[in-house]
Amino acid sequence: MRRLWLLLCALCFVLAGCGGEAAEKHSRDFFAMDTYMTMIAYGPRAEEAMQAAEARIRTLEDELSVTREGSDIWRVNHRTDDAVPLGRDAAEAVGFALAAAKETGGALDPTIYPVVEAWGFTKDHQQVPEETALRAALARTGWTRVRLDDGSLTLEPGMEIDLGAVGKGYAGREAGQVLRDRGVTSAILSLGGNIEAVGSRPDGTPWRVGLRAPDAEGYAGMLSVQDAAVVTSGSYERYFTDESGRRWHHIIDPATGYPAENGLVSVTIVGQDGLVCDALSTALFVMGKEKAAAFWRAHGGFDMILIEEGRHITVTEGLAGRFSILPDYTEEEAEVLRR
Ligand code: AMP
Ligand code: MG
Repeated sequence: MRRLWLLLCALCFVLAGCGGEAAEKHSRDFFAMDTYMTMIAYGPRAEEAMQAAEARIRTLEDELSVTREGSDIWRVNHRTDDAVPLGRDAAEAVGFALAAAKETGGALDPTIYPVVEAWGFTKDHQQVPEETALRAALARTGWTRVRLDDGSLTLEPGMEIDLGAVGKGYAGREAGQVLRDRGVTSAILSLGGNIEAVGSRPDGTPWRVGLRAPDAEGYAGMLSVQDAAVVTSGSYERYFTDESGRRWHHIIDPATGYPAENGLVSVTIVGQDGLVCDALSTALFVMGKEKAAAFWRAHGGFDMILIEEGRHITVTEGLAGRFSILPDYTEEEAEVLRR
């Protein structure tokens, strides 16, 4: 009888222990890839898993950074031979970016870097480039002039590559995978505003993600997600104002060399794979609303939220019921895109 009692006590302890630990919240904040990153994860394996996820992000930064001396991308841009062998991560990211360039008709172009440099978005000092300088920079771009064979990248002389438009999404995907592989079932990561949701909240309800207002403090809306990436490209994220008061932002239309100007101020992509979401957020921002809608209808596999100047919001049908606009932002209802 006494032994049975002890056994029951032990069992209760184990169950209580499990329940308590499962809901235990852990967090980790750090700076990487030029931005603040925050992780929140629940459960007994959270700390160790987040440490491994941060290490994975730092490895990716070492390999993909355009400014870090010795990174794979830095070696490409400072090459002395035509062909540069890439590590596994860089080969995957560049291969993906080139495929996405093809799929989006060049709206995403990983060779746009000379133009980004001409605008000064790589430095502290930004300026509207002279027409001739811009044309010269554009002449050094073009994803169709790049070859990736067996992990070896060949660029024409003067061309440069940059994964700024996909790197954080790749990091989000990889960090989420590290957490899942280590048994974490409830976590949310914010990599400079790019969200990677692992599982659901500890109580099983979806994560609630705020969508930043592009033209005001605070949020434009709230989104419920589980096991998904939420990636936003916005003209408010990086920009400067010239002497005449005109604003110029950092998302370049590779067809013109100028910041994309089509009425969109923010594009959010919701999907399974952070890398895909990051590529599409940039590309669909460049395309503008009509082409973005046509792209979504033709390809599917993701959802999106578009915000236009004037605060008109459009969502794809998969988000109806999962996205709500904050009434303080606009009283206008979201337009729902259907197939
Ligand atoms: P994102 O915030 O993901 O939309 O990425 C924007 C960053 O990618 C910019 O700061 C540039 O460094 C780079 N970029 C700008 N325009 C393009 C483009 N059309 N294709 C690829 N990268 C771009
Ligand atoms: Mg992007």
